[in-house]
Amino acid sequence: MMQKLMSKYIAHHVNPDNCVGCRMCVEVCPSNALSSKFNGSILTIILNSELCMGCGACVDTCPFNVLELVPRDEVETFRMEIDVLRPEKVEKRKYYMIARKVVDTSYCTGCGACTVCPPNGIIWKDGVIDFPDWVKLCRDCAICIKVCQRYKSIFKSGIGEVIEVKGAKSKRFKGQDGAMVLEFVACALEMGIIDTALMVSRDEKWKPIVVHVKHIDQLKSERIAGSKYSIAPVLPELNRIIKKAGKLAIVGTPCIVTGLRLLQKEIPLYNKVKLAISLFCMENFRYSSLMEFLEEKNIDVTKVKKFNIKKGKFIVEMEDGVFECPIKELDEHASSGCSYCTDFTGVDSDVSIGSVGTPDGYSTVLIRSKIAKDIYNYMISKGYIEECDVNMKVVEKLCKFKVKKALKKEENTLRF
Ligand SMILES: Cc1cc2nc3c(=O)[nH]c(=O)nc-3n(C[C@H](O)[C@H](O)[C@H](O)COP(=O)(O)OP(=O)(O)OC[C@H]3O[C@@H](n4cnc5c(N)ncnc54)[C@H](O)[C@@H]3O)c2cc1C
Repeated sequence: MMQKLMSKYIAHHVNPDNCVGCRMCVEVCPSNALSSKFNGSILTIILNSELCMGCGACVDTCPFNVLELVPRDEVETFRMEIDVLRPEKVEKRKYYMIARKVVDTSYCTGCGACTVCPPNGIIWKDGVIDFPDWVKLCRDCAICIKVCQRYKSIFKSGIGEVIEVKGAKSKRFKGQDGAMVLEFVACALEMGIIDTALMVSRDEKWKPIVVHVKHIDQLKSERIAGSKYSIAPVLPELNRIIKKAGKLAIVGTPCIVTGLRLLQKEIPLYNKVKLAISLFCMENFRYSSLMEFLEEKNIDVTKVKKFNIKKGKFIVEMEDGVFECPIKELDEHASSGCSYCTDFTGVDSDVSIGSVGTPDGYSTVLIRSKIAKDIYNYMISKGYIEECDVNMKVVEKLCKFKVKKALKKEENTLRF
């Protein structure tokens, strides 16, 4: 049987642009047909066709569908070159660099893009990144630093590029504000633009859970609707499923969308994400920190119906009453990475959706791409939404406020 496979199939690099240089294919090859060598920062991976048995171990191991088995008579051999950003003198591995510059300095957004790590060495837990076994696991491929917005000091801000500004609410769904996020996802599914949306649901204690939405009926769930004021593992889940995924949408805070764009830039496989929806965001919280705060205030989280942040107030609507306090009281519970963030609207998204700028029960919608515009036009043509006026002055004011807040934090921080 093996002889037959050997003669018929051979490994081939069908998507070389997706190669990050992790060399896991080289390590797993049982016949040493794959080898790699460095020349400065350039890593070359080469196949010796005479040694390849066509077993497919490299194909199964590659996280990004770079390799496939193809009939042996169609190709001869291959060679791939990847720039792995190898420094001249490799003192420490790449993860060490991201840990020192980003994680240890509390600079990390918690977006989780770095969990793309091919040997699954980078762990996301409650918005905190760890790599417990990095000395053993790190392949030094540098993909973690290539997709880290903080390592690269990427700071977006302002309203960004917008095709159209809209105010609207869904007639079909109930959401945090105008349920326009749910409506965008529903229409993208209906139009066949996507087959799955990664959305943030929650458990009975409001712990965020990333779910795969494939049917419009799922969007009627009151746990999927609404804002959860905790950092959610949207990108870790995307990284977990990307190899086998179809056409995707993701919904997230601005840092999540910027993380997605960096993944798409480095690994074209991530272009399976056809629609990226950003929520406006001033700041977010680690789940455990938010729970500590609620406990201090004697709030039973299982009785909470809705959390909201409005006009400087943190508002908790419960079955038997409402708790309100100035948002300042939660300052020490906010994620430290958020205090450096300058992006309020999520300028990297296809469409940004937020609360400010429109009356209660409506959403402000910033349409940035053709795909988002097509979806919006579709929902209008179907009569799914009701429109209203938008006051962009207040959105602009909050964009400026976020930058000012971050600059103040920066001034007070000793940075690398
Ligand atoms: C942490 C956070 C801070 C925010 N800060 C502001 C602000 O300062 N000003 C403002 O105008 N708007 C802010 N928003 C946005 C606002 O709360 C609403 O999400 C937005 O107006 C969309 O409302 P909607 O009715 O269309 O959402 P819905 O249609 O109810 O859709 C909600 C969807 O948002 C996603 N989602 C919810 N929580 C999270 C999360 N933690 N991480 C990733 N995705 C999530 C889920 O996929 C969920 O299905 C914030 C949202 C969050 C999550």
